[in-house]
Amino acid sequence: MELLEVKNVSVKYGIAPALRNISAKLGHEKVVVLLGPNGAGKSTFIKSLIGLVKIYEGEIFYRGERIDDLPVHKRARRGISLVPEGRRVFANMSVMENLYLGGYQRLKKEIETELENTVKIFFPRLIERRRQIAGTLSGGEQQMLAIARAIMSGARLVLLDEPSLGLAPIMVKQVAQVISRLNKEKKVSMIMVEQNANLGFQIADYVYVIEGGRVRLEGTNEELSKSEKIIHAYIGVE
Ligand code: ATP
Repeated sequence: MELLEVKNVSVKYGIAPALRNISAKLGHEKVVVLLGPNGAGKSTFIKSLIGLVKIYEGEIFYRGERIDDLPVHKRARRGISLVPEGRRVFANMSVMENLYLGGYQRLKKEIETELENTVKIFFPRLIERRRQIAGTLSGGEQQMLAIARAIMSGARLVLLDEPSLGLAPIMVKQVAQVISRLNKEKKVSMIMVEQNANLGFQIADYVYVIEGGRVRLEGTNEELSKSEKIIHAYIGVE
């Protein structure tokens, strides 16, 4: 059984269709990357997985159970977490307060264990800066904090909306590394929207190219990197 299965999902904003009959799968402990031009529907797709937008057609299964009728907090409790575009940390709170908020649905003991076993190891800089007000961190550090907060919730599936957007190249690399490591070492599955196709291919096990609210192309990393021309035509960038 796949970890996540999306079957023929459609979403509309008013009367404007944003997703048209999308089907996709995510295996356990895998990283799926969504590529595609602006306005393709990538953000809408991951918002539909966590429940921030309502689907009007289709089905979403997580661990074999249907989740598309569940509210966001119930999906979160089952282990899905969204790292939204633009990071959106609680800017006026400290790093540690942000991390604790990530774990608000968990027991104190679980929070402590996650801090010790994950945040300390994967995000040492956040621990160094635990008292700093989150809004004063650099863009890259805020992105790290947003990811760490998702991990603090105990997420087994993290949805990332353009985590590299607006970051300096060195931070893009570090964010990519932390995503890969969390996947390999902590077995966290990921679905990531990424404008940067090269970065997407580095991290992904499987890629979907979305355009006009539909899946235009899909395949493993190896399969799709062989049809680079097609990819670049859809994404419109090198
Ligand atoms: P981007 O990379 O620019 O974020 P995207 O692939 O994530 O693009 P979406 O943000 O999912 O695309 O948008 C898909 C379509 O839905 C676009 O035409 C967009 O204008 C429209 N759309 C997105 N959010 C809303 C909304 N809240 N209300 C109305 N239309 C929306």
